[in-house]
Amino acid sequence: MKVCKFGGSSVKDATQIRKVIKILQQDKSRKVVVVSAPGRDDLHDQKITDHLLNYATNGKHFSDHLIEVDAQQSFEAIITKYEKLCIDLGIDKNKIIEPLKKDLENTKLKDEKREAFCLSRGEHHNAKVIEQFMKKSKINVKLMLPEDFGFILSENFTDGKVLNESYENIERDFSIEEDILYLVPGFYGITKNKEIAVMSRGGSDLTGGELAYALDADVYENWTDTNGVYEVDPRVIEDANVIPRLTFKELRLLSSKGFNVFHFDAMLNCKKSKIPINIRNTNNPDHEGTLILSERVPMEDNVGIARLDNMASIHIQKDMLAEEIGFMAELLKVFSEFGINTYHYPTDKDDIAVLVDQECLKGNINNLRRQIEKRIKTDNIFITYNLSIITIVGIGLKENSFAIVDAIWALKENNISFDLFDMSPSKISFHIGVSQNIADVALQTLYDNLLKKEE
Ligand code: ASP
Repeated sequence: MKVCKFGGSSVKDATQIRKVIKILQQDKSRKVVVVSAPGRDDLHDQKITDHLLNYATNGKHFSDHLIEVDAQQSFEAIITKYEKLCIDLGIDKNKIIEPLKKDLENTKLKDEKREAFCLSRGEHHNAKVIEQFMKKSKINVKLMLPEDFGFILSENFTDGKVLNESYENIERDFSIEEDILYLVPGFYGITKNKEIAVMSRGGSDLTGGELAYALDADVYENWTDTNGVYEVDPRVIEDANVIPRLTFKELRLLSSKGFNVFHFDAMLNCKKSKIPINIRNTNNPDHEGTLILSERVPMEDNVGIARLDNMASIHIQKDMLAEEIGFMAELLKVFSEFGINTYHYPTDKDDIAVLVDQECLKGNINNLRRQIEKRIKTDNIFITYNLSIITIVGIGLKENSFAIVDAIWALKENNISFDLFDMSPSKISFHIGVSQNIADVALQTLYDNLLKKEE
């Protein structure tokens, strides 16, 4: 039995929804289907979810992002979108548009509750559209609304967490033996007080993951608009391939800003019960995608390379540093007081560097520096900006760490110097830090030497 989730790009218009129906008809083991709200399309630069949030916040959401779209314009964009969906799919628009308008215009809710309710309407009404179209396509569909079967969330209305009762409710109400396709709007749920709450953005992934977990699915298919997880960012390395199999841990190490295909919280329960997650492409359903597994037998040393840009290194020098007990705790405390997340900590007897996202230093750097000087009584502090951390990942590295030699050799051969090197304690990844202006070349060199398959 498969639980499938189709993201915003897979349900953004009638053409995409028709593809979804075809995919479902091709495999009868696809029993539970979670859908998102419509994503961006040729006419709409913004996702429906963002228009809904803009409507709920009276235009603040977009104006905060310097986008000139007011609440009324968002309202019109939403209505136009659903009207077009109904017309293009040939379904009764009265059943969709009036309830949608009523929901948005009549709500008396305020603040977070209002935001949550309006946000949820994207998936709610899209599921209703898809339900009608499925019925028209003679699919035996049953619409399962989170408020009806009890997908119970905590009372953080715009960042709700799934409560344990939800699993029993799912088990009780989804009888997967029957010849029924269960259709579920993603992203939202209901609190114990029967008020609508949403999870964090991208939360439909989570709805799917939790359903797969509660129903003990054989696989959780996550349908999106890419063939899977690539060995390396395909925007930089054009001939990068999709990784056929990788473990949850490898995926976690590979994902970096701008290169996330999946909501991580959604993996946790699937990981716990060893349910594989299959990333698939709605626009290329013949491609097998990437299978994310709890375990795998590695056929290679490394599977992929991630890259994190815009990092800064704060290098602290102090004689006899290594002899000072509690020094590291005090140093990291300073960073935590400034709310700064820290990454790597290359160290030796009198030196330590702390790597951080340089964005976090904006407006903070002078105060941070003063605090470190005062509390740690440093001799010197050197700050280097614009570093890229390139991370080579693969569980095969544990058995055979000589890929590290290949990596360093390749950099030497191409005259690429690096500023940082370290191996992770899990031994399934190592990091190479280079100046950002040579990061593209370094990445290409590492890719060519460590991953590129012979033609
Ligand atoms: N529609 C919601 C969002 O854009 C949830 C989702 O698509 O997963 O964040």
